[in-house]
Amino acid sequence: MLKLFNTQSREKELVHSHNSHIKMYTCGPTIYDFAHIGNFRTYVFEDLLRRAIQHFGFKIEQAMNITDIDDKTIRGALARNIPLKEYTEPFKTAFFEDLDALNIQRAEHYPAATDYIPEMIQMIEQLLEKGYAYKSPNGSIYFSIRQFSTYGRLSRLKLADLKVNASGDNQADEYDKDNISDFVLWKAFDPERDGKIFWESPFGKGRPGWHIECSAMANKILGETIDIHCGGVDNMFPHHENEIAQSECCSGQRFVYQWVHVEHLLVDHKKMSKSLGNFYTLRDLLQKGYSGSEVRYLLLSTHYRTQLNFTFAGLDAARSSLQRIEDLIERLRSVKESKSSTASSERAKTRFDAALADDLNISSALAALFDFLRELNVLADQDKLGVEEAREALKLFEEWDKILGVLPLKKKEDEIPVELTRLLEEREKARKEKNFKQSDAMRDAILSQGYVIEDTPKGARLKKL
Ligand code: AMP
Ligand code: ZN
Repeated sequence: MLKLFNTQSREKELVHSHNSHIKMYTCGPTIYDFAHIGNFRTYVFEDLLRRAIQHFGFKIEQAMNITDIDDKTIRGALARNIPLKEYTEPFKTAFFEDLDALNIQRAEHYPAATDYIPEMIQMIEQLLEKGYAYKSPNGSIYFSIRQFSTYGRLSRLKLADLKVNASGDNQADEYDKDNISDFVLWKAFDPERDGKIFWESPFGKGRPGWHIECSAMANKILGETIDIHCGGVDNMFPHHENEIAQSECCSGQRFVYQWVHVEHLLVDHKKMSKSLGNFYTLRDLLQKGYSGSEVRYLLLSTHYRTQLNFTFAGLDAARSSLQRIEDLIERLRSVKESKSSTASSERAKTRFDAALADDLNISSALAALFDFLRELNVLADQDKLGVEEAREALKLFEEWDKILGVLPLKKKEDEIPVELTRLLEEREKARKEKNFKQSDAMRDAILSQGYVIEDTPKGARLKKL
């Protein structure tokens, strides 16, 4: 029953699937720096969509690309005079740490552009063979948008009405609608721009353009046709338009059934972006004492097709909403007696599901949750809440949390004290520095507080004795 708004048709449509399987491609980060929370608005939404898809009984296969080749990553590596991978790797690690802090489920695939160069080259060769691409005098390969009659369909551009720069000298990956042009598939090597970073290809040394990266990885991992393709609205043109052109000209098949675009996170009513300098990273906010859950709640709680203006007051409101839920959860857990009351989990559940199924209408879904919370609080105030209903309600909050991934359901006694987490970090540092006497003393201090250290493939963690 899940419906999504398809940018292509501008209508809500039942989600497209094949034997209840959904293939979803989501444009991922360019790892030249830490992602900002604008980027994470898009990724948190995609996580909500992923969880909703599973909630409604579908199996999902999601791929999110990691862009490690583009002007910005190359510029960064050259500025520090280190290999590209050495430059991008810490930002990739940071990205996954941020995903964890925001409780974003892992996708099935995270392909990095550097691992798919042969697939990109193969696609470009096909486009050349079929006459959709040409080599320009500067040695780069361009896609000729005039050759693809439906170019502009997604963003509703009418090529005939536009002055198109077909000279094929636009090397930029991003440009605006007033400056529409043939776009680059393979950028010929330019030592001044690229230092020593290039790949060999049948068209000479160089590197792929940004758009072909997504087409090639989507095709290799998910196949010629994808059910859902997501990204922020700024990706619609030219990036997604170009992905469609490349993929459909190669395969002759429809590339995507449903296009889903997330509106921007704004600051002072302007898009949050690196270039405007008006951004916060997740780390900035964690350092100010906010939690990953509070940031997730803020990003999640506005419908994805509405712009969201970031403010600290908004973040504080997220904190108090979560606190209200936490207080109720504690209250539900403390109910011990049977009573003959009438809290309606079933009605709340139906309302929540209906809201979610309607293009992920999160505001209505959260309204259902908070109405239920109020109803339970009133019953508890009147001492009419029975243990069976409290248990039912807790079960429902747990089910909701599988979708929202943000509810404060952890029992207080399950939470590990911050001092112990810090002690564990120090113990790890001491071990790395081979200061075993100190690390053993720290282990003993942790043990004396009733916790043991467990070594796992993801690192050491604490467990209550
Ligand atoms: P980028 O690394 O700039 O390619 O962006 C990665 C993803 O974040 C893309 O899907 C963008 O559309 C999205 N994005 C970038 N800025 C924002 C913003 N201010 N609000 C929401 N999504 C954004
Ligand atoms: Zn993409």
